[in-house]
Amino acid sequence: MRTPAGYEEIPDLVLFVNGIPVAVVECKSPDLLRAPANCDKGRAQEFVRDHEDWIAEKARLRDRFRPTHASVDLRDGTVFRYLGRAYRLLLVDMDAGPVRLQAGRLCLDRSVAAGRDAGRKALIDWYQRTGTAWSLGRLQPWAGRMSVAEPRVEVRDLGRRWGAYIPDSSGEEDAPGRMALHWAVFQLPIRLVDYVIAHELAHMRIPGHGPDYWRLLRRAIPECERLKEELDEMGRRVWLGDLPDPEE
Ligand SMILES: [Zn+2]
Repeated sequence: MRTPAGYEEIPDLVLFVNGIPVAVVECKSPDLLRAPANCDKGRAQEFVRDHEDWIAEKARLRDRFRPTHASVDLRDGTVFRYLGRAYRLLLVDMDAGPVRLQAGRLCLDRSVAAGRDAGRKALIDWYQRTGTAWSLGRLQPWAGRMSVAEPRVEVRDLGRRWGAYIPDSSGEEDAPGRMALHWAVFQLPIRLVDYVIAHELAHMRIPGHGPDYWRLLRRAIPECERLKEELDEMGRRVWLGDLPDPEE
């Protein structure tokens, strides 16, 4: 069965006790529970009755971390976000460059949009270019605040990661290495892009996410734990370059 555009197939939540499946929370109607095949119905009913809160908590966690990345249509009015602000797409005949932010609209060349993949690529390129330029100006104050040298910045597709720090491999002393940022990060509000930048800068001093790492990051951003939660939550919904299936 085809899922509606913008939604991914959500797996049912199967609850195990000691490795034995005892109940299934259905994704389409979360209040409905059914016993999995090969499981005793009476045992499932009893289990569900005795573990109401635990099941609700599991379902809540599943919903929280379920990605819901939208697929978007390249047509007039579709909302794209840049640094947290919403811009409606406007298809126009452009002379220079296929994408431009103008008068509160994200303008995309009509002929480029018509070749779906070309339109998608033009938008991703635009996020990459504007994101790179924006972060270059943003990096210096954060690097200063965290007492690290400015790394080189590259904005690209990082799959499921928002950022990465790649130490220098030339062996040169004090070479600052590179910071990679996902192009999709630039859809998020500035405070969350700042969080990703500061997060990666902190890795220049401490790799991994031990207590020392968080202590360092908290000194630069006292509210870093709250921002991380917000990033987990908002990050699930950003556009990752998907277009709806053409026949829909
Ligand atoms: Zn990290």
